[in-house]
Amino acid sequence: MANILIVEDEEPINRLIKQNLALSGHVCDQLYDGKAAKQRLASGASYDLIILDVMLPYIDGFSLMQYTREIPVIFLTAKSQLSDKLAGLGSGAWDYLTKPFEMLELIARVHLILVKTQKADQKICIGKTEIDLKARKTVVDGVETELTRQEFELLEVLILNQNIALSREKLLDLAWGYDYAGDTRTVDVHITKLRKKLNLERQIKTVYKTGYRLEIEKEKETRCASGKKSIS
Ligand code: CA
Repeated sequence: MANILIVEDEEPINRLIKQNLALSGHVCDQLYDGKAAKQRLASGASYDLIILDVMLPYIDGFSLMQYTREIPVIFLTAKSQLSDKLAGLGSGAWDYLTKPFEMLELIARVHLILVKTQKADQKICIGKTEIDLKARKTVVDGVETELTRQEFELLEVLILNQNIALSREKLLDLAWGYDYAGDTRTVDVHITKLRKKLNLERQIKTVYKTGYRLEIEKEKETRCASGKKSIS
């Protein structure tokens, strides 16, 4: 779970980003203009990551870079600002996305940065199932359960996009890539195996006419034996 600042003047976009990052378990602060962002950052407020729109009222995203200190930044830019994007990377941003962007893409970029800065959760507990993303190990009720590489890759995508409904096509693409020589039935087969092996029949929901969703209830979060984040 990370502490993320969203600076975006378009309220619907700002709200959508917050909602999606909250589903992934992150805590977000929202600001809507450059002046407020400057004040917040200059006050020494600490964040794990900033999602920063380029075109903002009062002070633009690039100018705000001098206040972000060591905090990683993902810029949001319009497609027409191609040269600006490059300038953005030159001024220290870690990544950028062009508008309109897919929320799943943003979540993936956020996760990558959090992994790099070691702010991402490496161990996740869902009920009696423990998943170690770094060691690629799964333990069910104290017993190590072996997953195939493909099963683990699919599980990772479900965890990364927890509480979001994903189509079979999207799961296939995110887990194994466009070049993967399977069809969407392969997703069903692997979901069945994951549910059974990890005892996640209740948590991996079938979404009617869409695909699947890994449901993790935030309010039931507890600590697991290892002291890491636990969700039951
Ligand atoms: Ca804007």
